Amino acid sequence: KHLKKYYPVTAGFFKRKIGDIKAVDDLSLTLKKGETFGLVGESGCGKSTAGRTILRLTNPTEGQIMFDGEDITNLTGAKLREMRRNFQMVFQDPYASLNSKMMVGHIIDEPIRNYTRQSHKQLEQEVNELLNRVGLREEDYYKYPHEFSGGQRQRIGIARALALNPKLIVADEPVSALDVSIQSQVLNLLQELQDEFDLTYLFIAHDLSVVKHMSDRIGVMYLGRMVEIGDNEAIYREPLHPYTQALTSAIPEPDPLKKKERIILQGDVPSPQNPPSGCVFHTRCPMAMPKCQEIEPQLKEVRPHRQVACLLYDED
Ligand code: SF4
Ligand code: MG
Repeated sequence: KHLKKYYPVTAGFFKRKIGDIKAVDDLSLTLKKGETFGLVGESGCGKSTAGRTILRLTNPTEGQIMFDGEDITNLTGAKLREMRRNFQMVFQDPYASLNSKMMVGHIIDEPIRNYTRQSHKQLEQEVNELLNRVGLREEDYYKYPHEFSGGQRQRIGIARALALNPKLIVADEPVSALDVSIQSQVLNLLQELQDEFDLTYLFIAHDLSVVKHMSDRIGVMYLGRMVEIGDNEAIYREPLHPYTQALTSAIPEPDPLKKKERIILQGDVPSPQNPPSGCVFHTRCPMAMPKCQEIEPQLKEVRPHRQVACLLYDED
């Protein structure tokens, strides 16, 4: 609720603070148990920071994080550690996120060893089950990450993420680094595992086409803020926020009769250190009105199951 994550910017010999990078700025979001929530936005819009902050991997600057009815915003020490068992992250780059000097079996059982005491035999059995479950073989236990393809490495990362039976997984662009042919295999695996392990996903992506097949709901971020939230299919059918309209217009349409016009946004994403006044999207918005430079639109429910932050939908 109203989550903010600012990084101070300093200058000069005395490291005087001259401002903040507002990576996440007033983000409110409720994940429902068992759903996949697709969080979408251009790179640098704060979605990874939002994911990491929600999992308490980094401290929020402001705001509140609730999990299962419990306020976890200020947990520290052993309590925070225990809470984190429920959370896992799957990263974009399986090359960078796996320890290259560790045997696959130990990469996967490391979280279990950190949290529980088990015999070597028990651990081995659990790892073998996980390997099987993600489509790898038991002999892979003794191999090293460099012996695997990108897709297989992502499977190792997923097995590791499952090891402690988490409730919430933040998947941060888990297939962006993979060949298109491999992407759908990994996405399918994630979907199967969701039902089997009772998982809730926050699925981060930089474009809408990847989350389309995965998500129950979609949230669109721009410059640290959530600009639209809606049910998956409805967002594609009828995007309401001008930024979402631009993003959906970029998705290839296979049916030539339904050909839509591609909305090309002008200019670059402004710096999160000096976000534009009023609506942060006004410098690039094709629909901008004079008042958009002054009034900051709030995320509001404009129809059932749809929240939008845009003055076009303000009645008053
Ligand atoms: Fe565009 Fe104005 Fe809506 Fe912002 S508030 S998205 S600038 S129309
Ligand atoms: Mg990112």
